[in-house]
Amino acid sequence: MRYAERPACVIISYPFSGTCPLHKTVKLALGSILVACVVLALKTLAYLATGSVALFSDAVESIVNIAAACVAVFALKISAAPADENHPFGHTKAEYFAAVGEGVLIVAAAFLILGEAYASARNPTPLNLSVTGLALNAVATVLNTLWSWVLMRKGREWRSPALIADGRHLFGDVLTSLGILVGVGLVFLTGWQSLDALLAACVAVYMLWSGWRLIRDSVGGLMDEAVSPATMELIKNAIAAQADGAIEAHDVRTRYAGRRTFIEFHLIVPGDMKVSQAHIICDRIELALQREIAGSTVHIHVEPEHKAKPADAIVF
Ligand code: ZN
Ligand code: ZN
Repeated sequence: MRYAERPACVIISYPFSGTCPLHKTVKLALGSILVACVVLALKTLAYLATGSVALFSDAVESIVNIAAACVAVFALKISAAPADENHPFGHTKAEYFAAVGEGVLIVAAAFLILGEAYASARNPTPLNLSVTGLALNAVATVLNTLWSWVLMRKGREWRSPALIADGRHLFGDVLTSLGILVGVGLVFLTGWQSLDALLAACVAVYMLWSGWRLIRDSVGGLMDEAVSPATMELIKNAIAAQADGAIEAHDVRTRYAGRRTFIEFHLIVPGDMKVSQAHIICDRIELALQREIAGSTVHIHVEPEHKAKPADAIVF
C-alpha cells in the first residue's frame, strides 16, 4: 500500500462509487491536535495554580487527546487510500485501529489517574483557592465542548468512526471537567480535602468505562459486525422495491468497513431469463441501495429458480 504517492482524495471508480470526503476528515483531525495542545496548556496551568489531583486528572486527559488525534490523522490518511491490488476492498478499516488505539490510551490514562488519586488520598495536601486556575479550566472546557460538537457532527455526516470516536471521547472529557469544576469548588466551600481524590477516582472509573466501550465498538467493526436491524430493513425494502422481474432474494449479508457498507445477496430470477435482462435488474437494485445506504458496495449473485429458499427469503 503506497498511499503516500496518491492524492489524498480520489473519486474511486465502480464499484467504489461516489466521492470521498477524506481530505476534510484529515484536516479536522489535525485541528484536534491543535485544540488538544491549547487545552492541555490551559489545564496544566489550572492544575499548577490549585495543586488539585482532580484538575491533574483533567490535564492528563488532554495528553491522551493529543496522542489520540495524532493516531487518528495517521489512520485517516491510510483509510483515504483507494483500493489497490493488495487491499481490493479499500483501506477504510484503518480507522478502527485508531479507535481501538484511542480506547487503549484512555484506559492507560485512567490507571495513571487512579494511582495519583490513591497517593493523594493517603497524603492529602490542601488546595490553593485559585479563581484564575478554575477560570482557565473553564475556558478549556468551553473549547472542548465546541470542538467535540464539530467532530461528532462532521463525523456522522462523513461516517468516519475515527472522528466520531474522537468527538465522543472529547464530550466525555467535557462532562468530567464540569464535574471536577463543581467538585473543586465544593472543596473550597466545605474544606473537605478528600473530595478532590474521590473526584479524580470517579473520572478514572468513567474513563475506564468509555475506553472499554470505544474498544468494543471498534472491535465490532474489525470483526465484520452486520448492520443494525433498522438498516437491514432499509436494505430489504430497497431490494424489494426494485426487483421487478426477479423472484426472490436470500442470504443477505452485510458488514461495515468504516464509512463503507458491504452488501451481498443471492437474487433468484427465472432460469430462462437472458443474462442481459438479469443484469439490468441487478444494476437497478445496486443503484437504489447506493442511494439508500451512502457509501455502499453491492455484490449480487444471480441464481435460477431451483436455488430458491423461500423459507428464508425476501419474496417479490
Ligand atoms: Zn442462493
Ligand atoms: Zn454490471
